[in-house]
Amino acid sequence: MTVTPHLFIPGPTNIPDKVRMAMNLPMEDMRCPEFPKLTLPIFEDLKKVFKMKDGRVFVFPSSGTGAWESAIENTLAVGDKVLMSRFGQFSLLWVDMAERMGLKVELCDEEWGTGVPLEKYADILAKDKNHEIKAVFATHNETATGVTSDIAGVRKALDAAKHPALLMVDGVSSVGSLDMRMGEWGVDCCISGSQKGFMLPTGLGILAVSQKALDINKSLNGRMNRCFFSWEDMIKTNDLGFFPYTPATQLIRGLRASLDLIFEEGLENVLARHHRLAEGVRAAVNAWGMKLVAKEPKWHSDTVSAIYVPENVDAVNVLKTAYYRYNTSFGTGLNKLNGRVFRIGHLGSLDEGMVGSALFAAEMALKDCGANIKFGSGTGAAAEYFSKTATTAATATS
Ligand SMILES: *Cc1c(COP(=O)(O)O)cnc(C)c1O
Repeated sequence: MTVTPHLFIPGPTNIPDKVRMAMNLPMEDMRCPEFPKLTLPIFEDLKKVFKMKDGRVFVFPSSGTGAWESAIENTLAVGDKVLMSRFGQFSLLWVDMAERMGLKVELCDEEWGTGVPLEKYADILAKDKNHEIKAVFATHNETATGVTSDIAGVRKALDAAKHPALLMVDGVSSVGSLDMRMGEWGVDCCISGSQKGFMLPTGLGILAVSQKALDINKSLNGRMNRCFFSWEDMIKTNDLGFFPYTPATQLIRGLRASLDLIFEEGLENVLARHHRLAEGVRAAVNAWGMKLVAKEPKWHSDTVSAIYVPENVDAVNVLKTAYYRYNTSFGTGLNKLNGRVFRIGHLGSLDEGMVGSALFAAEMALKDCGANIKFGSGTGAAAEYFSKTATTAATATS
């Protein structure tokens, strides 16, 4: 096969050529006097993507999971109580990590297909008069179910209770693709990674932290042990444009290129594009007569759609058929969704033609596996939506 496999998983995402080529360079001296000219502007530009009003961004040579860990161990102590919710494989893993790191988790177990339970959070926070809860956790975009939660709403719940807890947000599959307003929403730690909205290979854990989180980090007694993910070590060297250990220099070059692409298109345009493409996918799902895992429109994710296959169809077969017969990868149904769900990742470097190609392959694989759908129904609905809502001029005038 001379054609590169078509990748429609919700991370790693497709890498634009400009980003890939920016990483094709010899190893460089990460302690040379020129290196800060690369790194210092990146730290500043990342703040724009997270829409921060203060604080700083750490870039670890890890995946997103490392940034999860860093957020916890730099701001909390063993035995601290935290408020979390679980409604999909990624929020589940975050709870598991928090428990393994010694936090006492007050857990809201929610139906998969829903998101952060705002009313429950508001209730629990209002009742916590002694402020035993030290941090509130929210998964912005649950990648396993295609559910986006209302982070502004979590901030409202905290403010209504006048609660000082830190707000920790998993933005791994949202930042750079969905609106993340750290400053406005008072988010204290926002976790991201390189291989989703940032359109890079896996290998960078990107952690944005507010000034409040930095202050707590400084003042906290009885903190957790930490070393690799320590903020203090990072700050000492980052301030000069260096790192406490060997940084992933190629990935940082790639990050420069991906930030350039995001700003060239305009961050707001990038976000609008994600919404439009997601609407096209949802039009197709609707036309197939199939259902999203996300229970209500307010939960709809603009970066990933988790789709229930019809009762008579095995989603594992759909995935295999797409992969072997049509050279196309979709996301699997994770955990209890295995066999019932496949996911279309629609984030990062993507346009209408690519969404069309994903839907075309999905349509064939679904029908091959017994789904009673009409060829052209989903792809046609998406095409109709895209054509009706096109904003770009049809002729190349400037
Ligand atoms: C991908 C993902 C993670 C895990 O990130 P890794 O880079 O795989 O460690 C965590 N949370 C969410 C919501 C994700 O989509």
